[in-house]
Amino acid sequence: MKRECVSCDKEISDIHLLCDGCASELCSENIFWIGTSAIIGEPVINRCKEDSKTTLRIGESPDGKVIHKEGKKVLQEILDYYNMIDEGEGDYHEILVRLTQILTELGITLEIDEYNLFLSPQVTKVLSEIFYMVEEVRNKTGEDSGPPELYIVIGNLFYYLSSKADSCIFSPEFRKKIVDELRRESEIYYKKASSKENNNHITFRNMGINYLEIRKLKKAVESFEKALRLDEDDLESRIGAVRAYVELDELESAEKLLNNMLENNPDDPRIWYLKAYELRKGGRWGGAIQFCEQALARDENFVDAILMKGEILLGNEMYREANETFDKGIEKDVENSKAWFLKAKALHGMNKWGGALQCLQKVLSFDPQNESAWVLRGDILNEKELFEEAMEAYEMSIKIVPDLERAKQKIRVCKSRLS
Ligand SMILES: [Zn+2]
Repeated sequence: MKRECVSCDKEISDIHLLCDGCASELCSENIFWIGTSAIIGEPVINRCKEDSKTTLRIGESPDGKVIHKEGKKVLQEILDYYNMIDEGEGDYHEILVRLTQILTELGITLEIDEYNLFLSPQVTKVLSEIFYMVEEVRNKTGEDSGPPELYIVIGNLFYYLSSKADSCIFSPEFRKKIVDELRRESEIYYKKASSKENNNHITFRNMGINYLEIRKLKKAVESFEKALRLDEDDLESRIGAVRAYVELDELESAEKLLNNMLENNPDDPRIWYLKAYELRKGGRWGGAIQFCEQALARDENFVDAILMKGEILLGNEMYREANETFDKGIEKDVENSKAWFLKAKALHGMNKWGGALQCLQKVLSFDPQNESAWVLRGDILNEKELFEEAMEAYEMSIKIVPDLERAKQKIRVCKSRLS
């Protein structure tokens, strides 16, 4: 594992790629650089940095050729408007309405696409450019006069960026800080969109999805319910509402909505999976496994359903069956670190130490900041009476989550066994 900052070669503690100094420099320069290339294992931070300086205006290709005349024109008008603000000329709102139309033409949708969280570099740049322009005008005029759709798109941009930042390039503390910041920005822009005369249910749906991610569950429920008042058949909002209800242990509300959804959308595997999720939360294991099977009957590649089934088996100490189930998940998605972690737990349950440690090695190669993997590694080594190595693993977990009591306690036990 790399112990040097990839940008300045400064020595850093074991498991991240950028030192906090370089990270904050990059983020203060242009937060949107996070969106410009793949991050995990990306050694060309400097290229990223250069990338973030050149701007690709909406309507322009990277070599400056105009490919969308109207887009180019609208940006010019925004710039002109910005220069003329003091004279109070031009209709800014109307320009922004046209801008949002152009975004739609360019395929930038209002929906959060959970299956394609990573925007292309071009789209990210276009959106970041728009963001800075809108902000500049707002700073100068003090008014939020954009159309709600524009704010939804900007909110989505921050949502996507926070998902990107949540990877292993930063130190754990820095990552937490930056992700929190980006999630807050999403919240702000969705709120701006919702405070307008806005009947677009997508605003509230996206807001709910963001709240779910930051575990503001009550607010998530409120947002999804608002979205459903505007469009009661919106499937994505219903799914979000069920997730939030289950997390809040409001299983009755979840069940009511779910039964209705199963009637109306019996072919959607996600609904069978959610039903399994709800039953599992209520401790109804048998039913939950059946519903996982139902989800898989509709989509055999539904890895989350495979893993949930395995987790239920694991929880009931059916280690061999659980292990076989996780193997199926890994077969579908070989880089799924959760699947490898759960397999390690199953093997641990079967007393197969070596195999479990190998699986954990896999997890940590994808996700070095997975503190649970370090703790389990510590537990296994501890049980094998390799106390020094166990202590090292527990110490790694504490570097990631400083107040991990269980690991601290285990270190004390290891120490007493050694002395
Ligand atoms: Zn550095």
